[in-house]
Amino acid sequence: MKWLVRSICFLGVLCASVVSCFSLDREAFTFTSYDLNVRIEPQQQRIGVRGKITLRNDSATPQKIAVLQISSSLDWRSIRAGDQAVQFVTQTYTSDIDHTGALSEAIVTLPQPIAPKATVELEIAYEGVVLLDATRLTRIGTPEAAAKSSDWDQITTKFTAVRGAGNVAWYPIATDVADLSEGDGLSEVLGRWKAREADSKMEVHFDLPTVAEDVTPPITLCGGTEQHAVARGGSPKSPWSQCSYQPLGLSVPAFVVANYGVVDRPVITVYNLPEHAVAAEAYAEAAGKTAALITEWFGPARRKAETADLADPDAAPFESGALLLTPLTVADPKLAGLVAAHQLAHASFYSPRPWIDEGLAHFAQALYLEQQRGRQTALDYMGLHRAAFSEAEKQTAASSPEDDVNRSLVRTTNEVLYRSKAMYVWWMLREMVGEQALKKAFAAYRPEQDKEPSYMPHLIQSQTQRDLEWFFDDWVYRDRGVPDFKVESAFSRKTANDAYVLTITIDNLGSAGAEVPLTVRFAGGEIGRRLEVRAKSKGVIRVETSAAPTEIVVNDGSVPESDVSNNTFKIEAEHK
Ligand SMILES: [Zn+2]
Repeated sequence: MKWLVRSICFLGVLCASVVSCFSLDREAFTFTSYDLNVRIEPQQQRIGVRGKITLRNDSATPQKIAVLQISSSLDWRSIRAGDQAVQFVTQTYTSDIDHTGALSEAIVTLPQPIAPKATVELEIAYEGVVLLDATRLTRIGTPEAAAKSSDWDQITTKFTAVRGAGNVAWYPIATDVADLSEGDGLSEVLGRWKAREADSKMEVHFDLPTVAEDVTPPITLCGGTEQHAVARGGSPKSPWSQCSYQPLGLSVPAFVVANYGVVDRPVITVYNLPEHAVAAEAYAEAAGKTAALITEWFGPARRKAETADLADPDAAPFESGALLLTPLTVADPKLAGLVAAHQLAHASFYSPRPWIDEGLAHFAQALYLEQQRGRQTALDYMGLHRAAFSEAEKQTAASSPEDDVNRSLVRTTNEVLYRSKAMYVWWMLREMVGEQALKKAFAAYRPEQDKEPSYMPHLIQSQTQRDLEWFFDDWVYRDRGVPDFKVESAFSRKTANDAYVLTITIDNLGSAGAEVPLTVRFAGGEIGRRLEVRAKSKGVIRVETSAAPTEIVVNDGSVPESDVSNNTFKIEAEHK
């Protein structure tokens, strides 16, 4: 079939564009550097972008063609290499990586082939509008209101908020087709793109239209990993700001433009729309109260956290480096504290590995809830995440050994795994090695030294005598799914001094081991114990109680499990 297509193309007659002739390697180039000037025209809902990008050939073969993709609502104006205009054709490329459900793709014929690892610098110009557009969601049946609260990006006179790759390709990217109707399709393509770009740099200069002397200019904010500079100055008439991502890390560059009010506190700066001033104060207050817990676990803040308001009260929150975009409409201090815990954890602790970076930020939320309202509230909160990744784990059950490695926490690009599952892993580690040991491991962590997946596991292992290799194997280096505990048997025996000794056998039917809590209930009380049960193995524990035991419950919800229906064991009759 492939041959047929090719031979027809070689006739040259039926070719609509180069694309039909050659299979393009869209992911051959990594964009190592961006230096962009972005002119925002809120009145026209437009942006105009000029700048330079550097592409590195990360494929094994020389590349003569480079693909540059921007949102389908933007148009290519010019592409040059050195002082030469290069040949390029443009086409619409259907992909759900952009909110419009399509990209404007420029297929560029480079002046000469670029050898593997060699780079080429291109001068680019493009422009167009960024309007509210939820096409990619509505076309797969998402109700319009929900779709718009998810894909809220747009430029308007009153309020502008635009996220990058994955939402709006406002800077050039190069990706294979991402399809939302295909399970992980989008998150995998986006994950690959982000991983390729992690060491890349981006400098963006934003310009806004001039305003009259007596008019307060809007503020432009963006997220940044290491450096984040926002200036409101220059001449008061032409507001501008300079954003720097060195490197991009896991950040997706985003920008917001609005006439924000500012609540500035030692740990956080909150930018709010005028109608949300009360909630902004509440958020800053809650963040202030959460800071001590976060510092205790993750060290002092490396940078100040920033939160910016979104106009749509139902808008889904988004993190871009140091900046959290979220509608500041709820003045509920508990909810604010929960969000702040995540954000402050990022401000204190950074890792280039998603399961550490995001996993710990979610773990921080569970810690916050435990501190505020007790262990059970934290476990209930984790249970909400559990529901999200149980679906993902079902696929694991049928997967191959290679998939076990690809879906492991150290490799996965699946958000549900590196967020929700990782949170559980951190919680389990805390209970296995203790708080002090884990905090010491975090304090010893240096992101720039994290070159091997085993770096963090080794830091934790060095804080304890206990062997953790099996745990990291089952949960971190591989995806072995989750355990399934069952109380297989329990025998009680009355001792000479009227106590009872209960011998409990716990069977783990799953392919991942864990240390699991168990509770023995008896008339007038209960006793809690912890037991390590490896994958496909049994564990035995003896528990002494002062009265006849009546019930055993394995797992309090702190270990994610595939089947909890077999976790309770009633001790009916007593043995003599
Ligand atoms: Zn996060």
